[in-house]
Amino acid sequence: MIKVCKFGGTSMADGITMLRVKSIIESDPARRYVVVSAPGKRFGGDIKVTDLLYETYDNVVVSGETGAAFEKICERFRGIVSELKLDLDIDSILAETGEAIVKEASPDFCASRGEYLSGRVMAALLDVPFIDARDVVKFGPDGKLDNARTYALLAEALKGKKRALVTGFYGEDANGRVKTFSRGGSDISGAIVARAAGADLYENWTDVSGFLACDPRIVENPVPIRSLSYKELRELSYMGANVLHSESIFPVREADIPIRIKNTFRPEDKGTDILPTSRYTYSGRRVTGIAGKKNFTVIFLEKSLMNEEIGFTYRTLAVFMKHGISFEHIPTGIDTMSFVIDSAELKGGLLEEMCDEIRDAVKPDSLRVINDIALIAVVGHGMTRSVGVSARLFEAIARAGVNVRMIDQGSSELNIIVGVDNENYERTLKAVYEEFFD
Ligand code: ASP
Repeated sequence: MIKVCKFGGTSMADGITMLRVKSIIESDPARRYVVVSAPGKRFGGDIKVTDLLYETYDNVVVSGETGAAFEKICERFRGIVSELKLDLDIDSILAETGEAIVKEASPDFCASRGEYLSGRVMAALLDVPFIDARDVVKFGPDGKLDNARTYALLAEALKGKKRALVTGFYGEDANGRVKTFSRGGSDISGAIVARAAGADLYENWTDVSGFLACDPRIVENPVPIRSLSYKELRELSYMGANVLHSESIFPVREADIPIRIKNTFRPEDKGTDILPTSRYTYSGRRVTGIAGKKNFTVIFLEKSLMNEEIGFTYRTLAVFMKHGISFEHIPTGIDTMSFVIDSAELKGGLLEEMCDEIRDAVKPDSLRVINDIALIAVVGHGMTRSVGVSARLFEAIARAGVNVRMIDQGSSELNIIVGVDNENYERTLKAVYEEFFD
């Protein structure tokens, strides 16, 4: 049995949490390969090391020096090493790191040093070999992970090692420079190591006991989700359930490796199992979970006989492609079409520019922009071929007095997405949760 364990930022926050991590790993001989994040927040208001590193990069750009932010990082690591009474020359490691940050002058390199440093410390604490992700996680010229090279290099590096530590969050691009995943990307690194090691289980250790059926900041005490499928996970995490990076499933899915979310601070809790869709068994609930996000923009187009105009969508999407903008959904009618876009993508006059270009490209009878839309995803395999789920959903929303602005249901029947005004988001989420879970 091989388990790969990834520990997140709160698990690496200080010496005491690192000792907890050590005892979790050493309590199970199957926990052979460990992936770590950078130290996260120790208390509310604290700053994550990765955020301090982005600040350090800004300092380097402005003054050519790492500045006060890096000094805070150094203090933090010195504190951890002395708390752990480790025989590690952290001062030299920090000095070399500071010099490398100035020399490389890249945001990705700078941000990656949190994982590098916590990896060095944790490998010393566990007394296991340290594997720098730069040497084994490789991106191709297209910026995507080079699967074949990465898995081969990692498998080689892990071979014959009883235990080893691999740094999370980064790898090396085709030009030999450090490249990070998007924020929270150590979850992806953990999945890659699990895949390369041929693990039986990918344990993702964090500071919550798994997924909850709804956002606990909005709904009081939502029920925990004991198990969900890869597909449900993808839907829920993409829509804002941020326990796990939404891209983490891809490496493990190819090899059918289950993921288990565990709580470093309550290791006795069962957590959430994320299973290959084929191994997933129906929990008896129609809906597995509800997630959502605010701040979407809808571009609504209307044109008589749109249905007969070949290439209408193609020409509209060419505008999206030109600006590198991805859309979330395209609900359509016979003569209408809407494009739902994350508003954060449309800053600095881009929305107006794109609307002008769309007008030119497809000459719609009307084009309207609807701002401040929130999306709510109701997710669950249990909805498939079951009668009445959407009736209950829309009745619950109607009872809450909320007007539905958009509906989208994938033909897989795995989710129903509802768009409402931002100001109705919380109310809708509560109403839907009460309908299916209370
Ligand atoms: N340290 C990185 C971040 O804060 C990556 C991670 O923790 O997964 O986003």
